[in-house]
Amino acid sequence: MFWKKEKPAEKPAVSTSGVKIHPQVDNGVHAGREGFAGGTLTCHCATDPVKVRVDAQTAHNHVCGCTKCWKPTGAVFSQVAVVSRDKVHVVENGDKLKVVDPSAVIQRYACTGCGVHMYGRIESTAHPFYGLDFVHTELSNEDGWSAPEFAAFVSSIIEAGTPPARMPAVRARLHELGLEPYDCLSPPLMDAIATHIAKTAGTLAA
Ligand SMILES: [Zn+2]
Ligand SMILES: [Zn+2]
Repeated sequence: MFWKKEKPAEKPAVSTSGVKIHPQVDNGVHAGREGFAGGTLTCHCATDPVKVRVDAQTAHNHVCGCTKCWKPTGAVFSQVAVVSRDKVHVVENGDKLKVVDPSAVIQRYACTGCGVHMYGRIESTAHPFYGLDFVHTELSNEDGWSAPEFAAFVSSIIEAGTPPARMPAVRARLHELGLEPYDCLSPPLMDAIATHIAKTAGTLAA
């Protein structure tokens, strides 16, 4: 293969042949574009699709192995990023949106026509991530969204049916792609959550 010629040292100890993560990263991770200022997310409906405008670059983009995030057909991971909720606007066919699970912390607004999740919103002001919406930038045609940086909740793909014996190959492939695998969120995000909790509790000065 061509890349082996270019980077012979990157051959992992475990075979990653045929391991699929998500269509957006399976051929390599694309860097985001400096100065990129957002775009429009469109659901998969052939007629009257839901459109959501995101007026900013996203942050903390990552692939996620949890069972709650929306994934395109056949993908083992989702790809999900955050953006300030005031930058997210439903611009067309918003009447097709419905919250998947009203009892969940993240209110995931899905299209009732095609099932695609258009955005996830946290309504609890006490939540560490209050103010941020979760979006899947692959729903946009624009090029330049922030690149995925890590893999979250990797072990959870077992809950969705991945055989445990497959995990070393999955983690090796994530390393190969430069997406450090974590079984929760990345250390900076876990630190942000703990800092918020410590400040709320008064353990840390606000
Ligand atoms: Zn739809
Ligand atoms: Zn997830």
